[in-house]
Amino acid sequence: MLSFWEKESLITYDIIIIGAGITGLSSAISILEKNPKLSVAIFEAGILPSGASTRNAGFACFGSLSELMSDEKSLGTDKMLQLVQDRWEGLRILRERLGDDNLEFFQLGGYELVFDSINFEENAQLMNQKLNTIFNTSVFRNATSELKNFGFNKKYVKQLIYNPYEGQIHTGKMMKALANKATCMGITIYTNSRVKSLTPKGVIVGEVEFKSNQTLICTNAFTKSLLPKLLLKPGRGQVCITKPIKNLNIKGIFHYDEGYYYFRNIDNRILFGGGRNQDFQNEESTEIKINDKIQIHLIDELKSKILPSTPFEIDLQWSGIMAFGDDKFPILKRVNERTVVAAKLGGIGIALGSKLGKAAAELTLN
Ligand SMILES: Cc1cc2nc3c(=O)[nH]c(=O)nc-3n(C[C@H](O)[C@H](O)[C@H](O)COP(=O)(O)OP(=O)(O)OC[C@H]3O[C@@H](n4cnc5c(N)ncnc54)[C@H](O)[C@@H]3O)c2cc1C
Repeated sequence: MLSFWEKESLITYDIIIIGAGITGLSSAISILEKNPKLSVAIFEAGILPSGASTRNAGFACFGSLSELMSDEKSLGTDKMLQLVQDRWEGLRILRERLGDDNLEFFQLGGYELVFDSINFEENAQLMNQKLNTIFNTSVFRNATSELKNFGFNKKYVKQLIYNPYEGQIHTGKMMKALANKATCMGITIYTNSRVKSLTPKGVIVGEVEFKSNQTLICTNAFTKSLLPKLLLKPGRGQVCITKPIKNLNIKGIFHYDEGYYYFRNIDNRILFGGGRNQDFQNEESTEIKINDKIQIHLIDELKSKILPSTPFEIDLQWSGIMAFGDDKFPILKRVNERTVVAAKLGGIGIALGSKLGKAAAELTLN
């Protein structure tokens, strides 16, 4: 039973967006940047956004050398370059939109740990030549001489590759700044409001049908509950963070094994995540849950490879849900004349979110 007032002012919007992760919030902002007169509401299932955007590692990156080489093998050179270009452009939009101070963005650079002594210089040079069209300068360089600065276990870590263009952000502050910006622009964000289904005129939340001219679905790994035929699958990621460590000399972002493992400093703590490749089957889940096997493995990796002679304690463990598919490109398409979907951002979605949001806004408005 709705009141006259609710019917008049609270039920109907020009555009409804489902999901308040980085994609949903960025899309909403891009829509109002294009047309400030539109009314936009976002429905978010969780009290806080409850997928990947508030639970990630905060790497502002576009792919390590081994990851880009693997992508080139599976996608071809042009598509690999397209991915890098999209991620780089997405990071530019995000930084410009929110400001580096609000993101706590630091461009400390990124390192890839190499566990064998194979000469990677030739591969780095070849990749640098290809990336030159985007960066106009060399991206990857040998930084093995810096190994002594970090205290990694030399038995495992033989070489380091450096990428000066990688940075780190404070994920919580990014999401807060995005939500604040959206609210200041007049976008209504309803939290704890799961969309149960789509209707020909809008969406059902609880017992209420909210109406819109256009509905944009930004629910990433959870999209199959609304569009069962969409080709994507969930992939959970496990993360842990240490308590503060005295005299920590690890600064920057670090990856290894084609990006399956990643760690960074946050002040004087280490955040460490990944290991999904240890248990793909159980991690193909939308349930936010700790996987003990992977968390124990992460702590083992930290002890044996990263902090071999530094005592540490784990402060917090958590997980988040990503979306994957046949390739690493997001899905952006019009489902019908009233509905658009923007989903499947994979493991480098901080970079992609703003760019995808801009494209999703354009498609929704056209
Ligand atoms: C552990 C982990 C580490 C990561 N690290 C990095 C990193 O360092 N760098 C990087 O670039 N990327 C990283 N990512 C990936 C990145 O976080 C994601 O690609 C990105 O956040 C996806 O954003 P999104 O808005 O599309 O999806 P999400 O953030 O998942 O947002 C979708 C939202 O939709 C909501 N929702 C779902 N169903 C409904 C419904 N029916 N009704 C209403 N709301 C609904 C969900 O609650 C959720 O908040 C990581 C991801 C994880 C999980």
